[in-house]
Amino acid sequence: MADATYDYDLFVIGGGSGGVRASRIAASHGAKVAVAESFRLGGTCVIRGCVPKKLLVYASQFADSLNHAGDYGWTIEGMRFDWPSLRDAVAREVDRLNAAYTRTLDTHHVAHFHDHAELTGPHSVRLRGSGQTVTARTILIATGAWPVVPAFPGSEHAITSNEVFHLETLPKRVVIAGAGYIAMEFAGVFNALGCEVTVVNRTDAILRTYDIDLRERLLAISSARGITYRFHAGFERVEKEADGSLTVHLNDCEGPIAADVLLVATGRRPQTDGLGLDTVGIAPGARGEIPVDDEGRTVVPSIFAVGDVTARVQLTPIAIREGHAFADTQFGAQPRRVAYDAIPSAVFSQPPLAAVGPTEAQAREQYGEIKVYTSDFRPMKNAFSKRIERGFYKMVVDARTDRVLALHMIGPEAPEILQAAAIAVKAGLTKADFDATVALHPSMAEELVLMR
Ligand code: NDP
Repeated sequence: MADATYDYDLFVIGGGSGGVRASRIAASHGAKVAVAESFRLGGTCVIRGCVPKKLLVYASQFADSLNHAGDYGWTIEGMRFDWPSLRDAVAREVDRLNAAYTRTLDTHHVAHFHDHAELTGPHSVRLRGSGQTVTARTILIATGAWPVVPAFPGSEHAITSNEVFHLETLPKRVVIAGAGYIAMEFAGVFNALGCEVTVVNRTDAILRTYDIDLRERLLAISSARGITYRFHAGFERVEKEADGSLTVHLNDCEGPIAADVLLVATGRRPQTDGLGLDTVGIAPGARGEIPVDDEGRTVVPSIFAVGDVTARVQLTPIAIREGHAFADTQFGAQPRRVAYDAIPSAVFSQPPLAAVGPTEAQAREQYGEIKVYTSDFRPMKNAFSKRIERGFYKMVVDARTDRVLALHMIGPEAPEILQAAAIAVKAGLTKADFDATVALHPSMAEELVLMR
């Protein structure tokens, strides 16, 4: 396929989930491909997102199991947690995955530049470090998103999810700004590891995009577990004290909070700084995103974009699908589009929650007549526990067709259970199909087929 007019058939800017998948697939279709990544191959998900986060979630869940092991007859003496051991183990796993990503590109003969690439024309980029100009028939932007830190005096003392994996010591007191995915996941991790956690948000909504019943259940359980919430609060200023601790002043009429770490998790913005978009005539949209059509093409016909930088759905599996569809369409003569319906998602809070399909309120608005089934149950694992934490599942059904439109779940293992159940929702199965399925007893998942 190599076209002598250009150095490469495809030049990809950004070696994360979307960029690496697109490169590998385009190369397997015979394209000559190069990738530029200024940080580490693997991108946010692998290097400083989903993967290391999930490892921290696992680590913190041990605390919970160990604390409740006594209910099951265990005596555990000398229990101790060592943050540096965990942090370094997580870093080693990230290194391993980074090496695996690098190997994947090598195996597929994809050239990679450890450099920042800037668009200089519809078919050219300049590598900032080496000063080299590289040309390509097609360019793909897959630079992802970057944490947004709101402006307030002392905001330079805050960290984001980029830095949280590298803390020298486990903080005793953590203040978290925002109440979205990252905030609720790290609130759960730090709380379980024994830190004092305060979540501060500008509204009183946690996890705004999820069904209200799940959000209320998580708020109740996490509050009972000791997480403090300060709602309708903004950051007035943050002061660094002589001992290195922080004093966080909010504008909500309550007193300041003493903290060791302030973690800001107030959203992520498409990463387009220094990309040279204006040079080629691409104007970012209102949320800073690169506007694309449903093939991923920008206003410049030779330049495409996938993943978080397009701010369609900021989830790793979507970036991967977009990258794959792009490569198959442009280099494999197999035109494909990503379907954005019935996307399952989860928050690895404690307990976790997961959902597929519209919330009850959205479904009511979209479909008019719906039926809602719920199950509010005590997970068997908690049977001996003094802690009263109930799971909650909700099924939303189209009243006219009996089709299951959505599932919403909070409780142990909800993401694992929901992934399997999402197949049924995506396939358009009905409530009658769920009812016809025999329960697997005793399990939590059986609630899905027992809702009457
Ligand atoms: P989210 O969009 O999930 O949440 C942002 C939070 O910050 C909300 O509580 C919001 O408040 C608040 N907020 C937004 N803007 C401001 C502002 N200017 N000042 C103060 N508060 C503000 O963002 P995250 O950073 O947690 O995560 C970014 C994205 O990463 C997510 O949208 C998700 O797509 C992805 N992600 C996915 C995960 C998963 O799949 N498990 C895990 C982690 C991240 P309010 O809602 O009240 O307006």
